Amino acid sequence: MKSQKMKILAFSLFFALAATGCTLTAGTVPVNPSNAPNITKPGVTQPATKPTTTPVTTTAAGSGQTPGTKPSTTTAGTTTAGSTTTNPINPSDIKSGEAYDTATVRDWTRNASQAAYYPKQKLVFLTFDDGPSTKVTPLVLDVLKKNNVKATFFYYTHGDLSSRAGIVRRTADEGHAIAIHTASHNYKKLYPGRKANVEAILSDVRTATSNIQAVLGASWKPSVYRFPGGSFSWTGSTSARKAMTQAKQALGNMGLQYLDWNAMTGDADYNNRDKSPSGLVKYAVKTTKNAYGHVIVLLMHDADHLPNTPKALQGLIDYYREQGYEFGILK
Ligand SMILES: [Zn+2]
Repeated sequence: MKSQKMKILAFSLFFALAATGCTLTAGTVPVNPSNAPNITKPGVTQPATKPTTTPVTTTAAGSGQTPGTKPSTTTAGTTTAGSTTTNPINPSDIKSGEAYDTATVRDWTRNASQAAYYPKQKLVFLTFDDGPSTKVTPLVLDVLKKNNVKATFFYYTHGDLSSRAGIVRRTADEGHAIAIHTASHNYKKLYPGRKANVEAILSDVRTATSNIQAVLGASWKPSVYRFPGGSFSWTGSTSARKAMTQAKQALGNMGLQYLDWNAMTGDADYNNRDKSPSGLVKYAVKTTKNAYGHVIVLLMHDADHLPNTPKALQGLIDYYREQGYEFGILK
C-alpha cells in the first residue's frame, strides 16, 4: 500500500514536472489536440480498482457542448466529494472560459494524487464570503476590474438584497461568479448541537437563492455553495459526519456543489494575527505554500467590518501572478 502511494506520488510529481507551461487563455478553445487537455490525468488514480486509464478526450474542447451544460461526469449531483470517475472527460466539462467545475476543483484541492485529473497550470480561485457589503464589495470589485481578474462571491443575503441590488448586479455584469453562502448565517439554526440540520440548510439555501433571484431574475440558478463555517467544522462526531454527508447529498440533488478552501488571508479570524493588508497577504502566502498541490481556493470576506480585505487584494493578485498562477472562477 505504501509503495502504491509512493507510485501515485511519483506519477503526480512527474506530471507536475512535465507541465510544459502551455496555458489556455480564458475563453479560447484549443484547436491543437496536443494542447487541448490542459488538464492531465495521472493514470494511476485508483490502483486497487478497475483501471481508470481511459484516455482523456483530446478533441477540441467545447465542440458539441452547449454552454452551461451540467457536467455529466464528475458530479451528477449525487456523488459526494472525493470520487473519481472512469468516464472519459471532455475538458470543457471541467473548464469553460474561466469557470471550472466545482466538484472537480474540490477533488483537486483535497488531494491531487487522488483526483482523476489535475491541471498542469497553477490555478487560484479568489473567493469572497459574507458579502455583498456596500462598504467593501465595491472596493473589491474595483481592484478586480483594474486587474481584469474574476472571482467567486459567496453571498450572505440576510433577508433582503434590495439595498444592495446594485452591487449584486455589478458583480454579475463584471463577469464574476455568484454563489450561495447563506441567508441567515445562523449556526444554531443550521447546525444545532454542531450537527448539520439538512432541512434547515436546504431552506436557508432556498431563501438565499430567491433573494438573489429577486435581483438577477429567476433565470439565475445557483450551482455553487459554501457551508457557513466550512463543511469540516461540523463533523465532530459520527452522527455529525453522517448528517454532513446527507446535507452534501441533498444539496447535490438540488444541483449545488459545495466548496471549502485550502488557503486564506485570515481576514475574519478571531485571533491577534496581523490583519493589516500586508499581514493578510503574508498569511495567504503562508497557507498557499502549505496547501496540497497547486490549485488554490483562497478564502476572503467582503464584509462591512473588514476594510483591509480590498486593500490586500492588489498584493494578493501580484503575488499569484508572480508565481505563475491563473485565476479561475467556479461553476
Ligand atoms: Zn460566512
